[in-house]
Amino acid sequence: MATIDPADEAQLLATIDRWIAREVAPRVKEYDHADKWPAEIVEQMKELGLFGATVSPEYGGLGLPATTYAQIVMKISAVWMAITGIFNSHLMLALAVEKFGTEPQRRHWLPKFASGEVRGGLALTEPNAGTDLQAIRMTALRDNRGDYIINGTKTWISNGIEGSCFALLVKTNPEASPRYSGMSLFIAPKGPGFTTGRKLEKLGYKSIDSGELIFDNYRIPADHLIGEVEGRGFTQVAGGLELGRINVAARGVGIAEGALKLATDYAQLRQTFGKPIIEHQAIALKIGEMATRARAARLLTLDAAQAFDRGDRCDMEAGMAKYFASEAALENSTESMRIHGAYGYSKEYDIERLYRDAPLTCIGEGTNEMQRLIIARQWARRSAA
Ligand SMILES: Cc1cc2nc3c(=O)[nH]c(=O)nc-3n(C[C@H](O)[C@H](O)[C@H](O)COP(=O)(O)OP(=O)(O)OC[C@H]3O[C@@H](n4cnc5c(N)ncnc54)[C@H](O)[C@@H]3O)c2cc1C
Repeated sequence: MATIDPADEAQLLATIDRWIAREVAPRVKEYDHADKWPAEIVEQMKELGLFGATVSPEYGGLGLPATTYAQIVMKISAVWMAITGIFNSHLMLALAVEKFGTEPQRRHWLPKFASGEVRGGLALTEPNAGTDLQAIRMTALRDNRGDYIINGTKTWISNGIEGSCFALLVKTNPEASPRYSGMSLFIAPKGPGFTTGRKLEKLGYKSIDSGELIFDNYRIPADHLIGEVEGRGFTQVAGGLELGRINVAARGVGIAEGALKLATDYAQLRQTFGKPIIEHQAIALKIGEMATRARAARLLTLDAAQAFDRGDRCDMEAGMAKYFASEAALENSTESMRIHGAYGYSKEYDIERLYRDAPLTCIGEGTNEMQRLIIARQWARRSAA
């Protein structure tokens, strides 16, 4: 169980605050509006150890508890959510290897992931299959040399263009019934037969690249199969990576809090009819609701992270946090934009970025429609009469 001394945690969070104020906040508009890859910021994230934030120290990571990690993600997302995706998705790859890989796989890959020398993400979605992951068509079939030959296309993969290695969900037995029993997860570094397609144009979540990955007779040795046993891939990604939902929840909290701060600052300065707009009841009510939503989202997210850190089952808690915090991000960013009046619609103000970034949190790591179904199923199971 990962733990951290409270004084060390406070120091780390203060370092993150200083970094955001000095390096991130002054540049975010420039990068976001140009949809430019933030190479300099990525180098700084490497130095801060963020690419190994949740990787165990024995493999070169910081070994942070989910609660500390979530607070880091909240702080960054309050200013620029998109850059958290550069290390969040990467850490899902690392988690898959640490949690489900063999010891030689951990020793080989994790130090490279933790240092940021090799960066990447999680490649599940295909053009025909997102929510219904069992419908993916990508195959990995063994040849007579014992290697796997992979064919198919992934899409919407975060870090797809700039990253070099992915946890790749495939079908090792496309005929299997039930379908999930024929699915496996591989560590797939870029190489011959693995190319990238176009960088996808998006409403928000700029600067981080979302790409297509194309596999055309891509050959991979059998020791790249995570855990080296076929048929476990679906369970590994669907049931084993609650940290992914906690990190999207933390992004939602960050956006909800960031939008609240922008609205509060603006509403205290902007005057109409002789007083600051925060003194008009209609605006004060909005601020009251936004502050409550942001706080509730934070508490739900920390609750899920604490359960994760204790090693308790936390699929329902992580689902609730992800669902609530992402909706809070969407609602707070919309309300904050309205409080800004015409300036909220201007590209010169920060709120337009939070407004464009928020919807992704409702889609990624399982849509909020699915999230509620999963919560209900788990709730019913735990409340069995
Ligand atoms: C910016 C961005 C980054 C992403 N990054 C990654 C990444 O790094 N790796 C990766 O693998 N994927 C990534 N994705 C893909 C993302 O995970 C999927 O978009 C998501 O899982 C939804 O799948 P879909 O888009 O195919 O929608 P669909 O599955 O087609 O769903 C369409 C709609 O139907 C609803 N729906 C579907 N099935 C049901 C059901 N049974 N009951 C009720 N409602 C249902 C959904 O909630 C949704 O509203 C990313 C997406 C975006 C936009």
